[in-house]
Amino acid sequence: MSNNMIEFITKSSLYSCMKILYPEVKQLLQIYDKETRFEMYCPECKDKKVFIYDCGLHNVKAANLKNKISSAGSVTGMSCQETSVLDGMDHLYLKFKCSLDESHKLEYFFAVRGDTIIKVGQYPSSADIDLPQATKYSSILGKQYYNELKRSIGLHSHGVGIGSFVYLRRIIEKLVYDTFKEAEAAGKLTEKEFEFQADGEHRNGMEEKIKLLKGFLPDLITDRPKIYGVVSKGIHALSEEECLKYFPVLKDGIVMILDDIVTRKEKERAAEEYNKSLGKIISDLK
Ligand SMILES: [Zn+2]
Repeated sequence: MSNNMIEFITKSSLYSCMKILYPEVKQLLQIYDKETRFEMYCPECKDKKVFIYDCGLHNVKAANLKNKISSAGSVTGMSCQETSVLDGMDHLYLKFKCSLDESHKLEYFFAVRGDTIIKVGQYPSSADIDLPQATKYSSILGKQYYNELKRSIGLHSHGVGIGSFVYLRRIIEKLVYDTFKEAEAAGKLTEKEFEFQADGEHRNGMEEKIKLLKGFLPDLITDRPKIYGVVSKGIHALSEEECLKYFPVLKDGIVMILDDIVTRKEKERAAEEYNKSLGKIISDLK
């Protein structure tokens, strides 16, 4: 079931706003009634888990019982639309619990101004929630990728839009140049082919370079190198608000790309170990 409220509650950055009208109140009541669940990385389980509502929404439930709205039924009279659905509320607080262990919680805080809620806090921080593979990134890809991704997520969670894009772009650029070194070492691509177009005069742009690395970088990026253009556009031409809004999608894309690389490198390592061990058995048996 799609629930915009859950997206906003769990993924938006600090000081993001959302207007709460009847559809949104219905979604809040679905959360209250535990009809809405969502998957999220649990920092304590260190794995993705299903989270369900724990407590906090009593004020919303009470206010809307008064207004005769329930999540199952429809708005019963037009008269209740005259007053704000958040009437009389000065804050909104939500706590969710992990389905594996009820003591693992996610908490979110919102200020209320008129019919709008503003995110003012959350615990754990999104940087702690967002990087399930943090240790793998550090050990397999090197500390720089991990540190820059973490900084990017941290900036976004504190409402810095364009700055968060700068780090995403650095990650893509580093990925492209590191991967070129691999392709060059494997004898598949020369520096000249990488840097210049066939005419030898015009330089390749970043998206052309990404395409040249097909087979070395995950298809996810070589088939859609435009992610680089979008991130660059964010830095030069988009507003803070647009960057904040688009960040979760781009960040998820980059995380998927890094995950693909981590998985491939793990497989390569396992295959290498296997070849070594098998080689030893064969030589022992001679
Ligand atoms: Zn948990």
